[in-house]
Amino acid sequence: MQLYNSLSHKKEEFYTNEPGKVKLYTCGPTVYHFAHIGNLRSYIMEDVLEKYLRYSGYDVLRVMNITDVGHLSSDADTGEDKMLKGAKREHKTVMEIAQYYTDAFFSDCEKLNIKRPDVVEPATHCIPEFIHMIQVLLDKGYAYLAGGNVYFDTSKLKEYYVFNKHEEEDLMVGVREGVEEDSNKRNKNDFVLWFTKSKFEDQALKWDSPWGVGYPGWHIECSSIATKYCGEYLDIHCGGIDNAFPHHTNEIAQSEAYLGHKWCNFWFHVLHLNDSTGKMSKSKGEFLTVSLLESKGYDPMVYRLFCLQSHYRRNLVFTYEGLDNAAVTYQKLIARIAALQPGEGPLDEAAMAALRERFKAALDNDLNTSLAVTSLYDVLKYQTDDRTKLALLGEFDQVLSLNLLQAAEAKRAELKKAAAAPAAGGFTVIPEGCEADEAVEDRIRARADAKKAKNFAEADRIRDELKALGVEIIDIPGGAKYKKN
Ligand code: AMP
Ligand code: ZN
Repeated sequence: MQLYNSLSHKKEEFYTNEPGKVKLYTCGPTVYHFAHIGNLRSYIMEDVLEKYLRYSGYDVLRVMNITDVGHLSSDADTGEDKMLKGAKREHKTVMEIAQYYTDAFFSDCEKLNIKRPDVVEPATHCIPEFIHMIQVLLDKGYAYLAGGNVYFDTSKLKEYYVFNKHEEEDLMVGVREGVEEDSNKRNKNDFVLWFTKSKFEDQALKWDSPWGVGYPGWHIECSSIATKYCGEYLDIHCGGIDNAFPHHTNEIAQSEAYLGHKWCNFWFHVLHLNDSTGKMSKSKGEFLTVSLLESKGYDPMVYRLFCLQSHYRRNLVFTYEGLDNAAVTYQKLIARIAALQPGEGPLDEAAMAALRERFKAALDNDLNTSLAVTSLYDVLKYQTDDRTKLALLGEFDQVLSLNLLQAAEAKRAELKKAAAAPAAGGFTVIPEGCEADEAVEDRIRARADAKKAKNFAEADRIRDELKALGVEIIDIPGGAKYKKN
């Protein structure tokens, strides 16, 4: 498998430290608010990566932190404390906020078929491990105390800008404007490992430490939690592109200074989902969440498909038009799968091998998910039996997780119900070129009943009512068809 590595700036043949095993670490959410669909784009693409590695036969251990302490609103140790901000906004305690938004995050993940990582660890559960790592960094001379805080000394490193050697600005995505200078820092890029002198007098969560009562910096949690569960060597570390600097740069600095050797081989960064204003925001404009999309009638699978149709290393612009296109694609795809007949008999192994090759070739090429989606159509078009096609679609969906077979089964049941309807009422109602709509069909049956009872005024009233909703009724012998305009 060829995978783009942000460290080398090129695609590389994927390899692991231990044969057949992948240690995969993912930066988890900061749980002070709902995740927006931009955050979830990163988690969807990371989910496909994990599932494809498993599909390819690797034994994967995936670890994710939950940031419930230490993340300030600027990634460079300045601004407000995000958790405290969330707690104040909702008049709750920091831990209540953390629990609520952690649950909300995993509920969104479930809707989007994002598998829960093998290990999910809140930062507040690992304070002793952070203290240990910071102490080792102090002992080794990579950290210093100043003004009551502990800082990492970036001047002690041979190389700091690991993701981009020359153009620091390119990496400044995560750093907000108006950065306040911290006069305790010896070097501009030094960062806080442990705060005791916080400007937040009402800092809610504090722990005792050898340097005084305080709380950890944001970056230390990922280095420490990754090492705790994955050991000294990581195969892949994931995150959105805004995490590359300073967060991942600082993670590498701390981890390699602590371990004394190279830490992680592959860095997988997902580019951003942007809205029409250029940036996805939790505070400005429409706050795009999975629940909002659901409330507008979109199946979360449609958003997953929307994401899979573009490459993770490209910025993606979210529009409702784009989402509508994905919805149509999804409905048509499901209708075609629903038309396949499972049947009895052996599978066409030769066809399976040929089609599998195409699917794997797409994902082996730096996780080209849009081509992997195209390979679903290759299956549908292939000259083989339906049973083989269904088996393959189910297999590919272990990676793509678009609920293909379940949605097709539901569609089949819906069609069956529509076909059985005349037997029940002696009156057939058929959707034409649109999704079956139970509420509309009930109204059409009510109109037929009114006509039968010679209540033509009521029948006309129902026709007009449906017309106002954009539904056109076409009377046919023994029933009616309807279209949505
Ligand atoms: P946070 O909750 O802010 O710590 O972010 C959670 C994850 O979402 C991180 O991996 C971020 O890099 C990622 N992320 C943030 N904004 C976006 C976006 N607009 N598009 C894709 N990923 C994002
Ligand atoms: Zn992290």
